[in-house]
Amino acid sequence: MMDGILDYVRLNWHMDHFSPERLRRYQEKQLFKLLDHSKKHSEFYKKQWMGKEIRSMKDFGQLPVINKQIMMEHFDELNTCGLRLSEVKEYALEKERNKDYNGYYKGRYVIGLSSGTSGNKGLYITPKAITQRLPAVFLARSGISLRRLPFRILFLLRVFSQGFADIHSPLIDLTYLSTMEPVDRIIRVMNEKKVNILLAPPSLLRLLIPYRDQIVAPLKIIVSCAEVLEKEEKQRLKAVFGTPVVEIYQASEGPIASPCRCGSLHINEDIVLVELYDTLGNPVEKADQVASRMLVTNLVNFAQPLIRYEMNDLIVLDEPCSCGSSFRVIKKVLGRNDDVIYLQRKNKELQHLFPDLMARWIITTSDNIREFKVIQNSPTTLEVILDLFDSAEPARKRVIDDLSLRIKEELSALELTADLSIRIERITLPDNRAKYKRFQVDPMGTHEPA
Ligand SMILES: [Zn+2]
Repeated sequence: MMDGILDYVRLNWHMDHFSPERLRRYQEKQLFKLLDHSKKHSEFYKKQWMGKEIRSMKDFGQLPVINKQIMMEHFDELNTCGLRLSEVKEYALEKERNKDYNGYYKGRYVIGLSSGTSGNKGLYITPKAITQRLPAVFLARSGISLRRLPFRILFLLRVFSQGFADIHSPLIDLTYLSTMEPVDRIIRVMNEKKVNILLAPPSLLRLLIPYRDQIVAPLKIIVSCAEVLEKEEKQRLKAVFGTPVVEIYQASEGPIASPCRCGSLHINEDIVLVELYDTLGNPVEKADQVASRMLVTNLVNFAQPLIRYEMNDLIVLDEPCSCGSSFRVIKKVLGRNDDVIYLQRKNKELQHLFPDLMARWIITTSDNIREFKVIQNSPTTLEVILDLFDSAEPARKRVIDDLSLRIKEELSALELTADLSIRIERITLPDNRAKYKRFQVDPMGTHEPA
């Protein structure tokens, strides 16, 4: 608790008071600590940087770029805590199958499985000590003033993160619900708990719109997460719920950006180092200029150092914010804009199914899946296209059989049905990967609930 308060104060102070110069010095200090540690304890980086002097930011900018594929290929040598991919993967898949997201691997690490925004799976190690500090990061970087205590928070997330275990104290009450809960139950919990801070993906916030009159306690703020929040949508939610709406941008690779008290989305410059480049490799520093590459270095996670890691998402910067913070402002996040699927329950009612959930079923079924696409043309059908590494028989047949069984089981557990078809095809990604939609739901097939 004490650590949490210290983190809260420190994080707030960084964001409000760091001058550009002070921020640069802080980032460099953290970065060189990380580089030093990685060079000593990560066999992967030791080899990659062999013979390279890293003394300045310029040297840092010459280091090779990695991405999820490289990170996964060199998982064992890259992490600095001696974890093996085979064991960690088995552990993560087992948890996924049992829908058991509690507990720490070997009592010390949270193992995150990436989903949604990219076709193949990624496994992310976060030390327990860091995950336990995440609530402080969330609170310090949510734009919510402590003057607004007590906080009664409801998190609507698909995967529960251990750092965010339920908290019940007079000043802060934090409850979790799965995004798959029926809307009426979500509303009931909001009313019972008198929730005043709501955190949820925009696709779920949309589902709550028709029910806003049933929400009894006034909301102080809505925090949108996990998907891109379009500007129009932000305005709409603000008007409908009569409350400020802010956005956080959290990725498997780290908490990338959070809102300030003015509601602008600022990069968490003291936690992640974000580099933006255009197609020619020149740094992108100006507002409104679309970068073609976004590299992230997580400055706090020494267990699995992600250094100059290329993200699939892209961001567009904005002008400096009136809050005065020297942390850069994000105008728009590109990517992560998949459609929501609607399927029929056994009683013919329509139920939402979030694409990230289905993406996890697919990526955790087989290592042979290189890329996938889901198409839905009516609420009773579901079409899955797979691009395989090995598409020869019998590998091909095995993937189709396994995935077909998996999807049917998962849908059945949610009391949903669909005519499922799976086929194998070559999938070519567009040059701008942020534009690729893995879930294509035809408007004729979707029905917003009344
Ligand atoms: Zn600001």
